Amino acid sequence: MDIGTLAAQVIKGDRRALARAITLVESGRADHREQAADLLQRVGKAGRQALRIGLSGTPGVGKSTFIEAFGLMLTGQGNRVAVLAVDPSSTRSGGSILGDKTRMERLSRDPNAYIRPSPSQTHLGGVARRSREAVALCEAAGFDIVLIETVGVGQSETMVAEMADLFILLLAPAGGDELQGVKRGIMEIADIILVNKADGDLKSAAMRTCADYAGALRLLRRRPQDPEGFPKAATVSAIDETGIAGAWAEMRTLVDWRRAQGHWASRRAAQARFWFEEEVRLGLLAQLTAQPETRKMMADLGEKVGQGALTPAAAAQKLLSHLKSCR
Ligand code: GDP
Repeated sequence: MDIGTLAAQVIKGDRRALARAITLVESGRADHREQAADLLQRVGKAGRQALRIGLSGTPGVGKSTFIEAFGLMLTGQGNRVAVLAVDPSSTRSGGSILGDKTRMERLSRDPNAYIRPSPSQTHLGGVARRSREAVALCEAAGFDIVLIETVGVGQSETMVAEMADLFILLLAPAGGDELQGVKRGIMEIADIILVNKADGDLKSAAMRTCADYAGALRLLRRRPQDPEGFPKAATVSAIDETGIAGAWAEMRTLVDWRRAQGHWASRRAAQARFWFEEEVRLGLLAQLTAQPETRKMMADLGEKVGQGALTPAAAAQKLLSHLKSCR
């Protein structure tokens, strides 16, 4: 298929073309990478921007239930919504646990929603890069809101934050008074913390948890990209569909302020630079490991490091000076 035609179809909002385009950016083949770069350049000319919302939470916290309720509310208001996933575990578990359509049945039947599971890849860097490109394709296809879902395992959250305009952390009510082992780094990238399951027997625990997190957020250093009162914590119930409209109102308040203050544009520019550098790093590494001789040397050195015969730094030095002498 001609890339120019594919780009035009994506921009027209053709769902089959979008699916094909995402499959292309997910491919690791060198000729596909070239076509993907061409495609992304072309669709980028459409100049469309969606609101990109990153959403993270541990398994069982209610991500798919929340996304279904939130997504249906958004499409009900006339928005077109895409849901993508960055799932670093999808290769290990042998199947995607995120962005799975059976987890969001009603939303997947909605003509104004598009759900795409995480690509299966061994490497988080690869998964993240492709998801970012899929976000750009959904944007070009005219989606107003792109939700990017991930699990709470640290590094993938940082990656998702690097491709989102807003980062939401979904939590469950805590039993005791502990802060659920949420790492400080994750707290620092969260724009809004939502404590889910604020219903029935869990309601009072959810409110206590929310108050604890609101307190913890106040102790963090003030960020220049936040208006007064942000980041903030609130309770929701994805099942009862309560608090969701309120959470959306908070998201819009934050986004409108960031746009008005110029933070939106500067953040997008910084993110573009981040992904450029990431792309170069991954590309260089791929070029290196494509050479059998280098691959063997890396494996041998890795073996020696594992045995304690060489330190990691010394082994890396050996490899790097070998590469230098090849040039
Ligand atoms: P995910 O793994 O984060 O996607 O979580 P799920 O959306 O699959 O939900 C995990 C479990 O929590 C399911 O049994 C849901 O029915 C339940 N759950 C999700 N949201 C709520 C909620 O708002 N209230 C209550 N009580 N249970 C919920």
